Amino acid sequence: MYDEFCFVIDSRKVIPGCIFVAIKGEKTDGHLYVKDALSKGAKYAVVEKPVDAPKECLIRVDSTVDFLINTAWERIQRYEPFVIGITGSNGKTTTKELIYQSIGKELCFSNPGNFNTEIGLPLSIINHYRGERYLALEMAMNKFGDIARLCQIAQPDISVLLNVGTAHRGVAGSDQAILDGKLQIVEMMKPNGTAVVINDERILQRISTKSLVTFGYQKGDYQLMNYFYDDLCTIAAYKTINEIVQFQFRSIWNVGQLTNIAAVLAVLDLIKIKPSKDLIENFSPIQGRFKVFRHRDVFIIDDCYNASLESFKVAVETLRKLGKRSFAVVGSIKEQGIYSDQTHQELGKILECTDGVIVYNSEPEIDAMVCSKEILRTNDIEKIVSFLRKTIKPQDAILFKASRAVQMENVLAKYLEGDQ
Ligand code: ADP
Repeated sequence: MYDEFCFVIDSRKVIPGCIFVAIKGEKTDGHLYVKDALSKGAKYAVVEKPVDAPKECLIRVDSTVDFLINTAWERIQRYEPFVIGITGSNGKTTTKELIYQSIGKELCFSNPGNFNTEIGLPLSIINHYRGERYLALEMAMNKFGDIARLCQIAQPDISVLLNVGTAHRGVAGSDQAILDGKLQIVEMMKPNGTAVVINDERILQRISTKSLVTFGYQKGDYQLMNYFYDDLCTIAAYKTINEIVQFQFRSIWNVGQLTNIAAVLAVLDLIKIKPSKDLIENFSPIQGRFKVFRHRDVFIIDDCYNASLESFKVAVETLRKLGKRSFAVVGSIKEQGIYSDQTHQELGKILECTDGVIVYNSEPEIDAMVCSKEILRTNDIEKIVSFLRKTIKPQDAILFKASRAVQMENVLAKYLEGDQ
């Protein structure tokens, strides 16, 4: 149903002839924009409560989110694709992207990184999935139950659980809720499905499925055995079920990302697709997600897109492993709720092994962070930039990292701007 329509949930993005779906969000309620959407040319509006608009333009349902989910589910039922579901606290987008590109766009559909929720995932399927044989879908979890709902739309044949960390733990409520919630990707897969899971005791002891493949750093069926950096390249060796392979990545990858590649190799083996060495080695990390480059002889790690304790840990590990004088410009880790102070205290400890920490305190959570390496704390971007220009020498390395809401990319952009 509705094959010929484009679905839109933001009235500013309405195009003539589309269907506008009114969703009640945290900040606003789509029902307030139904008239606007119809006046801009939407053919129908899907609503779950009365609105003042011509009846013939309205499709009334109990829940507009369920409507999206059911429509996406119907689309998938029609084609019965092979579903690879990917979740984890860190690394979903990169892992999914590598699997997607390895299978190839003729055969595979994948959801864009920010379309991984109970609204985004169905929207991307309804608007763009046209029957490709494979679906590589990243599934995000904010709270317990989210993953189960996403698996109801597209029940995985292969379920990939990358890791279980502390990201969004304020929203999920507890670390236990994060673990339970993420394990749903394994519990909800097809009866003859296979789980590809990080070799972590805390997780493995909860999994009873017979068809299980593990991966990890120096452990598991598929292992990252070792890695080192050579200028802006990463050389890494993997043990798979059949062989030992070495990759020479054309960029710097951190140990977390390198471990995810072991999961990619496991998935490709399961679906009998030979990994393209060229593709994997040349894959370029997505902007803001641990992208390392040289700027005027200084190594910059752009990790502005998001932050959690685990991703900070691997980022700082890389900073040290690069063997340079290392600095970190850091900001708050958001969505930590009652754990916020604890998280930032732990962050302070992680940053002890750098040579200098610059705190961008535009958001308040970072106030709880104490680190003996702190050399500046301000919410003034100009001050940070002029301090860096005085302090940083050629061959130094700087990490820029914070949660999305901090907008650390503005600090980085200012630093990169103009002459030093
Ligand atoms: P997601 O889609 O889950 O947010 P991304 O692929 O966008 O993941 O990567 C986000 C961040 O997570 C980056 O900082 C990256 O370096 C980090 N990361 C990726 N994999 C891991 C891992 N296994 N452990 C810790 N951090 C990781």
